Amino acid sequence: MILNVPGSDPSSPSSPICSAKGCRADAVWVLAWNNPKLHTPERRKTWLACEEHREHLSQFLGVRGFLKDVVLLEDWESPE
Ligand SMILES: [Zn+2]
Repeated sequence: MILNVPGSDPSSPSSPICSAKGCRADAVWVLAWNNPKLHTPERRKTWLACEEHREHLSQFLGVRGFLKDVVLLEDWESPE
């Protein structure tokens, strides 16, 4: 198990932190993903990542074919 808070909500009021296990850094990136065995195609789960763990978490999802999008947290919270 790599993550401690899978599916944590980036819109939660407390300062969002990286989803990587043991990491307490502020999240900078939102990784949007979908497991086709569990989710409908339009469903998006999200993980948060700091600058350091973005690539690691992206690869974890990418090799499984789950990764859909990687966006800056500030852009995710303010789509306009
Ligand atoms: Zn991290």
